[in-house]
Amino acid sequence: MSAAIPGFVQVDVDGLWAVRECYGRAENGTFTNDPCWTEGVARLDDVFQRTGTEAAFFIVGRDMELDAKRRATRKLLHRGYELGNHGYTHRLGLTLETTGGILREITQGHRALAQLGAKPSGFRAPGYDVDSRVLKTLVRCGYDYDASLLPTYAGPLLRATQALLAGKWIGRRRQYGRISFGRAPRRPYIPRLYKVRKPRFEKEEKRIVEIPVGVTPVLKLPLTASALFPMSRDRVRDLFRKMSEQRRPVLLLLHAIDGTDCSRPIVFDSKRPRVAGFRMSGDAKEKQLRMIVEEFAGGFAVTRADEFARQMLAHEH
Ligand SMILES: [Zn+2]
Repeated sequence: MSAAIPGFVQVDVDGLWAVRECYGRAENGTFTNDPCWTEGVARLDDVFQRTGTEAAFFIVGRDMELDAKRRATRKLLHRGYELGNHGYTHRLGLTLETTGGILREITQGHRALAQLGAKPSGFRAPGYDVDSRVLKTLVRCGYDYDASLLPTYAGPLLRATQALLAGKWIGRRRQYGRISFGRAPRRPYIPRLYKVRKPRFEKEEKRIVEIPVGVTPVLKLPLTASALFPMSRDRVRDLFRKMSEQRRPVLLLLHAIDGTDCSRPIVFDSKRPRVAGFRMSGDAKEKQLRMIVEEFAGGFAVTRADEFARQMLAHEH
C-alpha cells in the first residue's frame, strides 16, 4: 500500500430539493426545510473532524439565499474546509445551456461563496455534465480545476438506473456525461480546452486541471457512497488497495444525503428503492462513512484538491 498517492475527499452539498429534482420529484418545501443541510452536512463535518480528514464541500449558490445555510457554510469555511462551486441553481444539463447561461451558473455560484469570504477555485457541474465551453468559462473566471468529468462508458447504464429508481424517464438532461468520456484519463490532467477528454499536448496559454471523479475498477461506476455503502470494511479496503496500486490520484465523491437519515421516506414519498442508502438510518450511514474515510486515508494520502491543482499548474511551466 502506498500512502504517497494523493486522494481527494469531496462532498456535493445537494440540498434535498436538488436530490428530489434528480429523481423528478417536486421540492415540496425541502428548500427551506432541508435535512441534507441540517443533518447531512453536520454529520459529514463530524465524521471528517473525528477522522481528521481534509475535505471539500461543493456548494450550490441558490442555497446561500437562506440565512441558516449561509451560517452553516461559514462554519465549514472557518473549520478550514475547501469550498467549491457546484453552480447556482444545480442546473442538470448544464451543457444544454447557452454559453451565457453557463457563465451565469458559474459566476453567480462563485459570487454566493465569495460573499462569505470563500475563494473557490474548483468547480463541479451537476450531473457530471461538462464540455469545452464549461472549461473555457472556468479558465475565464480564474479557476484552477474542474472536477466534473466521469471517465466511464457506463453513462447510459447509470442514466437508465436512475430512471428506473425515479420510476420515470426524465428527458433533456445530460447526466453522467458522454460515452466518449470513457476514453478520458483517470488521473488528474491538463485537458485541451476544446476537447475535454483529451490531455493537452501543445503549450496552450490558458490552462486548467481536470480532476476526474473516481471510478471503480472494471465496471467504472462512480466512486460514491452508493457504490461503497453496501460493502464490508474488508471489501472497501481491498478496493482502495487495488486502486492505489494503479498509482493514480483518486477522487472519492460523497453527497450531503450520505449523512442524512433515510429511515423515513424523504426523497421518494413511497416505494423507496432498497439500494444506494435510500433506506439507511443516519446512524448506519455514519458508521459506514467513518469506515469509508478511514480506509480511504489508509490507501491514499488525503490532500486538498485546490492545492494539488495549483501545484500541478505551477510545475507545468
Ligand atoms: Zn449535485
